Amino acid sequence: MKSYIVLLLLLIGCNIPHKLDDKWEPLTHVVEGPGGSGWVTTISPFVFVGDLEKFLEKRPVDSAPYNSILLHERWHALTQEEMGLEEFLLKYATNQKFRWEQERLGWYLEIELAMRQGHWIDPRIVKSGLKKYTPSLASDSEIDEWVDSVYNGSFVPPPGIKALLDSFE
Ligand SMILES: [Zn+2]
Repeated sequence: MKSYIVLLLLLIGCNIPHKLDDKWEPLTHVVEGPGGSGWVTTISPFVFVGDLEKFLEKRPVDSAPYNSILLHERWHALTQEEMGLEEFLLKYATNQKFRWEQERLGWYLEIELAMRQGHWIDPRIVKSGLKKYTPSLASDSEIDEWVDSVYNGSFVPPPGIKALLDSFE
């Protein structure tokens, strides 16, 4: 566990980390990491982004895009706390079903919270976003079908996810 923390500190870029409100626990900071500018990933308690300034420019604090992406990342962080980080990372790397479950529920939270706060995320962006993961999350047709089911209201999330969404308000 300690070695992860050292590794995480090495990954942190030059920009001062963005401190998060307590309501995002177990997440504490958004920090700049080594990825490209659109890149967002969570290793609790940190959310790593490729370009912190751009991230906050596109998502001002407490705006719908800010809240919805942080809820997505908080879901990963909560799972990491529950499973243990090592177990989570191993399973995420080796088990496609788990990866797909993590990401689609994360995106579900993001889409739904954005919508509740008056911000529409284009389903085409969600589809192409989900297809960009490597290794892949699911087949293209499975991804398309799932995104359509979210937007037409037929997707029923597990009770814990619904509770997480409702707890935000
Ligand atoms: Zn995610």
